[in-house]
Amino acid sequence: MRKLLESDSLIQVNLIASYLQSNGITTKILNEHQDAIRSVISFNKPIHPELWVHPEQFETAAKLVGRYQHEQELNDSLSENEWPCKKCKEYNPENFMSCWSCGNSK
Ligand SMILES: [Zn+2]
Repeated sequence: MRKLLESDSLIQVNLIASYLQSNGITTKILNEHQDAIRSVISFNKPIHPELWVHPEQFETAAKLVGRYQHEQELNDSLSENEWPCKKCKEYNPENFMSCWSCGNSK
């Protein structure tokens, strides 16, 4: 596996992971449970969630992330199209067919 990106927002990492998975990319998120890790390792360096992909899918994934971020910029003014999950109340982009957080269907 190869590190694609890291972010201080787990939500952002999850959204990108869902986007990549819907495009056939296998993803793995590291440091997902920051608080648990931080309580075990007692140093002050912040631990950011990281998104990892298979090396052979890295180039494709990087392009998809670029496209995703471009779409996000275009969609920023359309955020009223987000839909709230019935189960966990998280908001999801309009084009997501299931909740990024819990997988509940739209
Ligand atoms: Zn949900």
